[in-house]
Amino acid sequence: MSGYEVRLGLYVDGEWLGGAGRETSQVLNPATGGGHAALPLATAEDLDRALEATRRGFETWRGTAPDARAALLIRTAALLRERADRIARIATLEQGKVLAEAKGEVAFAAALLEFHAGEAQRIYGRVLPRPAGTRSLVLQQPVGPVAAFCAWNFPVLNVVRKIAPALAAGCSIVIKPSEETAGSAVEVMRCFEDAGLPGPVAQCVFGVPDMVSRQLLASPIIRKLSFTGSVPVGKHLTRLAADTLKKVTMELGGHGPVLVFDDCDLDRTLDTLVAHKFRNAGQVCVAPTRFYVQSGIYDRFAAGFAERTRQVRMGDGLAPDSQMGPMANARRPEAIESLVQEAQARGARLLAGGERGGNAGGFFFPPTVLADVPIEARAMNEEPFGPLALLHPFETVEEAIAQANRLPFGLAAYCFTENGRRQNRLGDEIEAGMVAINGVRLSWPDSPFGGMKDSGYGSEDGPEGVAAHLVTKAVHMS
Ligand code: NAD
Repeated sequence: MSGYEVRLGLYVDGEWLGGAGRETSQVLNPATGGGHAALPLATAEDLDRALEATRRGFETWRGTAPDARAALLIRTAALLRERADRIARIATLEQGKVLAEAKGEVAFAAALLEFHAGEAQRIYGRVLPRPAGTRSLVLQQPVGPVAAFCAWNFPVLNVVRKIAPALAAGCSIVIKPSEETAGSAVEVMRCFEDAGLPGPVAQCVFGVPDMVSRQLLASPIIRKLSFTGSVPVGKHLTRLAADTLKKVTMELGGHGPVLVFDDCDLDRTLDTLVAHKFRNAGQVCVAPTRFYVQSGIYDRFAAGFAERTRQVRMGDGLAPDSQMGPMANARRPEAIESLVQEAQARGARLLAGGERGGNAGGFFFPPTVLADVPIEARAMNEEPFGPLALLHPFETVEEAIAQANRLPFGLAAYCFTENGRRQNRLGDEIEAGMVAINGVRLSWPDSPFGGMKDSGYGSEDGPEGVAAHLVTKAVHMS
């Protein structure tokens, strides 16, 4: 018995729509490759219905008092916490990550809902002084119905990260989570439903992604697009949204540079980085990926990284001793394998992992370390999105910064140095939406999460995440 007990369906206008009369796709278990359940896919009529509901939902939700919006978010958070074990298990069964990580993800999603409940009550405007008896008001109002699309790597959190700021701001939403991790999204929607969300305020649909996004984004009802996923799809959706000039938030891929200087606390740095690198089998947009290490410690760093990596236990995410699960789908191990082989052909040295094998049927790829990876290797330029660490030496701080900024991505960067002046310089000069110094945590509910350059624009979380769902209006009262 897998324990994957989810009634999959589309949630439209407060109603669950099942498989009858609809095409379906299979949700798979990445640890075995076997199928869990059939997921109904939206028809064009379903999407029209979802759009119409979202339009109506906005009319009521925009006028709902902020404290009532906040209360709904708080109740949803409580239900998520109550159901955390069950939801985490579903996330592991369909996405692959180890259960402890899935539980952490659910807890963070609940904290994010609670934070947004506070933000819902802190959407202020301004009063501008004018001659006596008159004034101008600057109002912040919800932008309107939102269409959101998100990826499979954080199947619970990604969904909450879209819905929470929209509802806090007074927007309605239609979300299309990843079909590959539909069960987690359905469970999140059930929490909203059971917390008392009025039917038409939030819809959750699945379908053929290109068809769904074209139909939703062509509609003038939708006033904002929010997407988490790859850079090419993000650019494509931004183009679709341009015809009706929707407000856009893009949370896209990265290629996290890690700058490790001679003066760092080497053991602590290695312990922290290896644990972080293989979280979620490296399928994290802010994952540390290109490790630029100063020449004085390069050999020791490489040896220490490889040794720790070999100790990471890979296995089914539900097994208590697994530290890294399978990759989420069959595309990922293939992609990583091809990047590893290409880098080796260019002269990179394999220090750990590197080959698929064993775990018949599952989408496993072992934690892998490549040293002396040439800058021209494909892996040094394309986001691997997997358990692959790439090591490359450097001499000077200027060289390290140039490498960090070399790619069009600008999402997360990590620096390890005890030199305070250098820390400030790195914080100033690295082109990334988030920079971690002597640590790896980049995400808190109150802190903006997002990138620059090809990694996208428009932060999520923090007050910025709600602001991204607001429009500004000036009212001049003469
Ligand atoms: P992909 O680009 O095909 O899909 C990413 C997500 O976007 C999926 O959930 C998919 O359903 C959705 N999507 C794809 N085409 C769409 C469309 N036309 N309209 C609406 N949604 C669409 O890539 P993939 O093979 O699933 O994942 C691999 C790549 O995705 C990685 O290399 C990484 O760059 C990126 N990714 C990024 C993040 C992130 O957090 N930024 C998360 C997951 C994946």
